[in-house]
Amino acid sequence: MKHMSEKRHNWTKTEILKIYNTPLMELLYDAATIHRKHHDPNTVQVSTLLSIKTGGCPEDCGYCPQAARYHTDIEGNDLMTVPHVKAQALRAKASGSSRVCMGAAWRNVKDGPEFDQVLEMVRTINKLDMEVCCTLGMLTENQAKRLAEAGLYAYNHNLDTSEDYYKDVISTRAFEDRLETIDNVRKSNVTVCSGGIIGMGEQLEDRAGMLVALSSLNPQPESVPINALVAVEGTPMEAMEPVSIWEMIRMVATTRIVMPETQVRLSAGRTEMSREGQAMCFFAGANSIFAGDKLLTTPNPDVSEDMEMFKLLGLNPQKPFTKVSQPKTVEASESQLQPLGEKPKWTRPAHTIERNEDAKAKSRLV
Ligand code: SF4
Repeated sequence: MKHMSEKRHNWTKTEILKIYNTPLMELLYDAATIHRKHHDPNTVQVSTLLSIKTGGCPEDCGYCPQAARYHTDIEGNDLMTVPHVKAQALRAKASGSSRVCMGAAWRNVKDGPEFDQVLEMVRTINKLDMEVCCTLGMLTENQAKRLAEAGLYAYNHNLDTSEDYYKDVISTRAFEDRLETIDNVRKSNVTVCSGGIIGMGEQLEDRAGMLVALSSLNPQPESVPINALVAVEGTPMEAMEPVSIWEMIRMVATTRIVMPETQVRLSAGRTEMSREGQAMCFFAGANSIFAGDKLLTTPNPDVSEDMEMFKLLGLNPQKPFTKVSQPKTVEASESQLQPLGEKPKWTRPAHTIERNEDAKAKSRLV
């Protein structure tokens, strides 16, 4: 085997590109060999993504239908109630999910009643013995610690793409803000989930650049979601061509080789993939899928279809806390941590991204 299976934090873009472009059979063999050294190849985690606060986001991410400035068919909602979230989590658990990821369309977390409500959601789900992940935007160290105290297992904060291409996707924050939030999460005992999207018009160098950034984090993220862009009408990326399954397989295999111990998550874009394509992704090292008919706001295969696929492939859903043990939940009344009411100065580069501006202008005409 060409590639060592040790964790490395010094991958170069050239090395990663070389792996990505390896003849496919060899790439699959290398990735699968590394995969089974570190993971059970017949186990795949089923996670459920729950949009706890949809739409109305002030950011301008070019791929996102939840950005308030674009005109999409997304129906916004206020923050879900704790009983509603609990009911959804119980349903997810009953259908084989071991992890619930709650997403709120916020730029950053603000101390106050809404964050307190999210902390209560975390406590509630952790007490159901499920892994709890949140994706709430940028956050401070104190906020990360408060989430940890509530029993948060993972915090998702995607790098999305390479540092170079980031400027062509988002103008309302900078790549270094992402890294800073990940750093804040690392100061708590919450695990890190960070990945990206392919098919946004980036070059292969950008895919490799993103993997350089992720793998150079020390520790590497415990979880790396790989998304294929779902081009939504009204967003700046509405006309992007879908990525081919071969690109997804290559990206998953490369991620597996570069970050051997990480849980690689097959995320958005699965509705476009055949079962054969998904099976190749599992062989190449993907060991998680997101279940449920929606992935925040974009379509996703039905849970029963996924369970049929698991049966067909002889896959078992992964039990919760197999990688890292379950965190303890501290009740709000016993919390040692107070909100600090910080107002961190997150960057706002505000450079012009033409396609984002066009989509914004078009939305005013609708
Ligand atoms: S990806 Fe997140 S931060 Fe960006 S616009 Fe969508 S909801 Fe907002």
